[in-house]
Amino acid sequence: MLRTAIELALKGKQWATIVKHFDESGHLTVRGNKWSTTPVQYMLTNPALCGYRMINGELVRDPKTGKPLVGQWETVCTPEEWRRLIARCTVWFNLDGDTASTRYREKVKREGKKDYRGIAEATRRFLLTNIARCGYVREDGTMCLAKMKGMGPTGTNKQDRYRCGDPRCNKVSRRADLVDDAIKRMVVKVLEEQYSDLVPQEQPWYGEETLNALLAQRQEIKDSYKARLITLADYLEFKDENDAQVATSQKDRDDFYAEQAAKNFLAGFSVERWENEFDMRQRRRAIAIVLQAVIIHPLPQGRSRSSRFDVDLLEPVPRKSC
Ligand SMILES: [Zn+2]
Repeated sequence: MLRTAIELALKGKQWATIVKHFDESGHLTVRGNKWSTTPVQYMLTNPALCGYRMINGELVRDPKTGKPLVGQWETVCTPEEWRRLIARCTVWFNLDGDTASTRYREKVKREGKKDYRGIAEATRRFLLTNIARCGYVREDGTMCLAKMKGMGPTGTNKQDRYRCGDPRCNKVSRRADLVDDAIKRMVVKVLEEQYSDLVPQEQPWYGEETLNALLAQRQEIKDSYKARLITLADYLEFKDENDAQVATSQKDRDDFYAEQAAKNFLAGFSVERWENEFDMRQRRRAIAIVLQAVIIHPLPQGRSRSSRFDVDLLEPVPRKSC
C-alpha cells in the first residue's frame, strides 16, 4: 500500500487521490480513524522511508563524511525519490529546515507558550464578536441565537459585517460599523449613568498584618529547626500548617485586589475614556458588564437588503444585575 501511494505521489497525483487510496486499502490510522491529508503527507515525506533520519529539521549525517546516515531498516523508496516527495510537501520534513514543527518550536522559544484565548481576546478586531447573536426564527418557532462573528468584505459586500456563526443557519448578517455604533451609544449611556460619579476605591487589604505574622512565623520555624530546637517531625508539621495558612491568606489578598480592580475599572466612566483610553478588550469587557448579548434580527420579509439600517432590529439583552 505504501509503495503504491509513493508512486502515486511521485506521479504528481492529487493528495485527495492518494488519501482515497489509503482509505480504500482498508487500513485505518493508528488511532483507528479514516485518513486525511495531513497524516498521509506526514507518512509519505518521512525520511525513514529511504533510511534517513531527521532531528530538529536536520538530516542526521556521518560526522566524518558529512553524508546522511542510512538506517538498518527496510526502506520503501530511494533517497532520490524521497527528495522528490518532500519537494511536493515541505510542511513536515524539509532539507532547508523550515517545517511546521521547527517553526512552532522557534516561535515558542521566541515568545514562550501563549495563552491563546487571551491573545484572541487581545487581538479582536470586532467589537461584538460572540456578543451579537443571530435572531433568525426557524420554522418551529425557535430562534437560532448562534454567536455571530465579524468578517471583512466579501463578494458584493463592501463592508465589514457580523454574520451568524452557525454554518447550518448563516441566515443573518448586518453591517458591523452601524451595529457597533448603535450598541456603543447605548452602552456608553448606561455606563455614564451608573459609573461616572463613582470614585475609584484604593483600599489596602485588611489582612496584611496577619500575612506578615504568618511569614515571620515561617522564618521562626525554619530557624528553630536549623538550631535543632525542634525535631524534623515537628518541623514538618509546623511547616505544612504554616504553608497552608500563608497560601489561604495570599489567595485572599489576590482576590481582594482583583475585585477592587474590577470595581474601579468603570469608576468615573466617561465617553472620553471610552474613546481615548479603552482598547478593544476593555470596550468588550465594559459591554459585557451591561449586556448579556445583542440579538440581531433578520430583515422583515420584503425589505430590501439595501434599505436603510434599522436600529430597531437590534435587541440588546441587559444583564440581570443592571
Ligand atoms: Zn443563525
